[in-house]
Amino acid sequence: MTKEKLKIAFYWAASCGGCEIAVLDINEKILDVIGIADIVFWPVAIDVKYKDVEAMPDKYIDICFFNGSIRNSEQEHVAKLLRKKAKTLVAFGSCAQEGCIPGLANLHDAKEILNTVYLKEKSVVNPEGVVPKPETEVKEGKLEIPHFYDTVRTLDQTVDVDYYLPGCPPPVKLISNAIDAIAKGELPPKGSVLAPLKSVCDECPRKKENKKISKIYRVHEKAPEPEKCLLEQGIICMGPATRSGCEAQCLTVDMPCTGCGGPCPNAPEQGAAMMSALASILGLENEQEHYSEEDVEKLMSQIKDPVGTFYMYSLPSSILRRKVMKQ
Ligand code: SF4
Ligand code: SF4
Ligand code: SF4
Repeated sequence: MTKEKLKIAFYWAASCGGCEIAVLDINEKILDVIGIADIVFWPVAIDVKYKDVEAMPDKYIDICFFNGSIRNSEQEHVAKLLRKKAKTLVAFGSCAQEGCIPGLANLHDAKEILNTVYLKEKSVVNPEGVVPKPETEVKEGKLEIPHFYDTVRTLDQTVDVDYYLPGCPPPVKLISNAIDAIAKGELPPKGSVLAPLKSVCDECPRKKENKKISKIYRVHEKAPEPEKCLLEQGIICMGPATRSGCEAQCLTVDMPCTGCGGPCPNAPEQGAAMMSALASILGLENEQEHYSEEDVEKLMSQIKDPVGTFYMYSLPSSILRRKVMKQ
């Protein structure tokens, strides 16, 4: 008897499109996907409308891969719709898992962002000061566009999520492993992150010598020695606080890990875990037992963009979540 094919859906919310490209990067493995599954919804590739999804019976879709975070009312609506229609919902990529780069918008609110983009930017020509509104009356009737939220949310801050595929975008190997697990019906328990339990440091070939550092360099300020740990050369590398699965690929081209694999299994607050790792190796020359507040401030002031460094991918999913705005 022929086995019934799975029904798979892909969707993108607040995303850059890179996760869609990552699906195509699996190359001939896409044939395995076609072999085991029919793609029933994929806005970037096939013409299936929201109303077609609404007409599907509940739990009709076997697996939905959802990339992108939730930053407007349309994305929230589709997340809730796909949750209803899918048996298994996978947060695909860092944006869906933890908010990622779009989540850095949580340092501002909607009004600030719209004012900057539509009114203040030097390249903008907008003499009538038109800023998008959810509803606009025109002579033909009422025009509606999605409501732009103040706060970017992760997928699991919006609906119940079954699995997480980390990365910006997820590495091809992790996607392939997930497809194999789906095909064999061997997915781990609900809530699992479909990636190894180790940190990026565990996969990194660079040598660590437990050296202290007193000076921090931005990545363009120093040509690193090729075989030594970047962190021990003063370049902030998120490897100690980041889950592996990418085979430490940034480190093989002399770039530090910026943390896209998300937090390590036992340290879910990735930014705090990295600050703690950094604090353990950061010190003044001629290391002293007690540092004055001034000493500590001097060391810390070398970190030019603390939120962008420690929370580049995880601000919405962190305990900080967003900047509190003055009313
Ligand atoms: S996780 Fe990265 S690659 Fe994927 S949509 Fe977000 S920003 Fe783009
Ligand atoms: S801190 Fe970075 S460079 Fe150093 S071992 Fe870890 S991943 Fe490699
Ligand atoms: S090394 Fe870090 S930033 Fe680079 S792909 Fe791996 S997890 Fe992402």
